[in-house]
Amino acid sequence: MERHELLVAYGDDPDSLLPRLFAAADLPAWLPRDRRIGIKPNLVVAKPSSSGATTDPRLVSALIAYLHALGCRDLVILESSWLGDSTARAFRECGYEEISQRTGVPLVDLKHDETVACEAHGLHVEVCRQAREIGFLINLPVIKAHCQTRMTCALKNLKGCIPDAEKRRFHTLGLHRPIAVLNTILHTDLVIVDGIVGDLTFEEGGTPARLDRIIVGRDPVLVDAYVASLMGFAPGDIPYIEMAAELGVGCRDLDRAGIRQINEPPVAPHSLEPVPCRLPARVRADQACSACLGSLRFALRRLEEEDHADRLSDEPICLGQGFRGQTQGGLGIGSCTAGFGRHLPGCPPAAADIVEFLRQKPGKKIP
Ligand code: SF4
Repeated sequence: MERHELLVAYGDDPDSLLPRLFAAADLPAWLPRDRRIGIKPNLVVAKPSSSGATTDPRLVSALIAYLHALGCRDLVILESSWLGDSTARAFRECGYEEISQRTGVPLVDLKHDETVACEAHGLHVEVCRQAREIGFLINLPVIKAHCQTRMTCALKNLKGCIPDAEKRRFHTLGLHRPIAVLNTILHTDLVIVDGIVGDLTFEEGGTPARLDRIIVGRDPVLVDAYVASLMGFAPGDIPYIEMAAELGVGCRDLDRAGIRQINEPPVAPHSLEPVPCRLPARVRADQACSACLGSLRFALRRLEEEDHADRLSDEPICLGQGFRGQTQGGLGIGSCTAGFGRHLPGCPPAAADIVEFLRQKPGKKIP
């Protein structure tokens, strides 16, 4: 797998999807089995992954099973929850204590780790020693909105590898530049994004949104640029992505990325509810995939945030496989609605494209 590539699998079963993703990435050919492998989930708070806040323990469990089968023996799970919360409690309540007991992979609470002083790009940063000394870092972030940086995914997840005093200082420095610099000090070797359930509004969870997907990449900048588009953000909306690219962490140019889907999105096993926005009455879903529904929910949220929702056309917004072959008015989201007069292609479309599509005035040609 090259650094400019991203792999996407749809569904919510890591046991079956991860081996397929790793086979497509040819991971056994380049995984260094002789180095200490660090597994860094996002356990910002002690809440289950169904809340949208934390990395699904099934993903970490499937990863460990795969690495053990490849002969990797020196594995460790590292995390430091956010300020004021206990990592030990998060390990316990998020299911990681059980994983550790079952697999023998130790848990390291970085809040109790020594720190190493690092200098990079004019910034002094204290970093947790055990994170700094990892030989191969696997970063498992969750797709979430964030109150200060708008989104959090791979690049920001490394903030869990610094002591609490530094987390506090990062906030006073505006977060964006320190996050970018931190990623020049700690190198992410592999990103596995938990996009099974993300959060629409806040990194602490509470507004969960199913996206039903797992994304694998080697470049955290490219991963974050892609996830930003899935969440409805335009390029440049998230300064730390651009800063990290400028500091040489990776490439944010999605036009140069090779994005491969390894399967088709499954139809959502649930209805559209709940849709936390002001437009649910206009939304008509018929056999819609959760990937499409998730994109729409993120897009509607972005439009709400910018107070654009009230200015939208009041035409129905339709999506789902039940609309295949139908020709009708209204706004069609996704390739299943190709027969609509106005429809947005994509299977599933990204939230950023849905935002642009819904902003278009009726009668304007859709590309
Ligand atoms: S376009 Fe159709 S098949 Fe594709 S994700 Fe959307 S609902 Fe599913």
